[in-house]
Amino acid sequence: MNATFTSGKELEKMDPVFGQLSFDNHEQIVFCNDKDTGLKAIIGIHNSVMGPALGGTRMWNYANEWEALNDVLRLSRGMTFKSAITGLNIGGGKAVIIGDAKTQKTPELMRKFGEFVHSLSGRYITAEDVGMETKDMDTVREVTPYVTGISEEKGGSGNPSPITAYGVFLGMKAAAKHQFGSDVLEGKKVLVQGIGHVGEALVDYLTKEGAQVTITDINEERLYNVAQKYNASIYTGLDLYTADVDIYAPCAMGATLNEESIHKLKAKVIAGAANNQLANETIHGKMLTEKGILYAPDFLINAGGIINVYAELAHYGKAEIMSKTENIYNTTLEIIDFAEKNNCTTHQAALTIAQNRIDARKLENNKL
Ligand code: NAD
Repeated sequence: MNATFTSGKELEKMDPVFGQLSFDNHEQIVFCNDKDTGLKAIIGIHNSVMGPALGGTRMWNYANEWEALNDVLRLSRGMTFKSAITGLNIGGGKAVIIGDAKTQKTPELMRKFGEFVHSLSGRYITAEDVGMETKDMDTVREVTPYVTGISEEKGGSGNPSPITAYGVFLGMKAAAKHQFGSDVLEGKKVLVQGIGHVGEALVDYLTKEGAQVTITDINEERLYNVAQKYNASIYTGLDLYTADVDIYAPCAMGATLNEESIHKLKAKVIAGAANNQLANETIHGKMLTEKGILYAPDFLINAGGIINVYAELAHYGKAEIMSKTENIYNTTLEIIDFAEKNNCTTHQAALTIAQNRIDARKLENNKL
């Protein structure tokens, strides 16, 4: 079990799929191509022991197809552990569509993607991720029932991002309780990197609690709008990893915790929504622990979104969504405690507990 962020050049040297560093016994990888709509997508089913593989679709302008493959391998694996640690009866999967969501996403392309999802007969169930909106899932729903995160008007659970943000906020509070002796974030300096769907909702929770919020985003227009709306400061320094803050919340893309950034970090707590924050989960998880930085595992605290979309499959309502999301607070404290007692990183602690659940389920399944 070793997920590593690899550069495009390094990736080229490896065997295409099974030789990828990010390959971790994934069950099935599906390459989807459609000339007419321009669709190029990859669906990754990592593990279906706990149930059908559920996970969002990301549309991103990848530098090359290797990067897209690496991303879907890492993301789908992350979903397996996210659902297992959250106690959901689903496996881990994810999809990526190669392209610019702003200019290349069309209803035809989304429907074609939905047809590919449908061809898997429910082994993979999709939802939204970066570059996707609830309305895109409604479009996918026109051609397949194997989609969640559809709009409330169409009988779905709606946009998962506010619930994700709520879970991240609670995971952050639990980490703060352990690190600073109190879970009250009032007065705490928090840097939120990426103020998209989840980041903005997190800024809302943080400012309501009285935290001193600084934000950063590559989308300048959004940055100024969100800063104004919540009276948040915009990070103006040259290197955000050197920012003098108590808490760093990565809410953009993954792999921001790496050799370079960890050396610079002043934050004592890391708690954010982005998936795969550790560039190398073994090396960088350890580096954080050695530096005395408490890392709230991403796949644990950003599970609000999967809890929300899973409600459509398990047929539970808002009250249960909220109580399952609120549980992230206690689970975060339990994971920190497990890590201390077992002398491992918080990331390893969460992985171990999730893997134990998967192994136990596999034994049960084999007995049937
Ligand atoms: P989003 O696309 O709405 O927002 C991402 C934001 O990050 C955008 O505003 C973008 O401009 C910004 N960004 C991109 N690269 C950046 C960089 N280098 N520096 C600063 N800002 C940058 O996505 P989202 O739905 O808010 O998701 C954010 C992260 O959380 C993603 O990693 C996603 O996989 C993860 N996540 C989201 C959900 C969910 O419910 N939406 C659930 C779990 C995990």
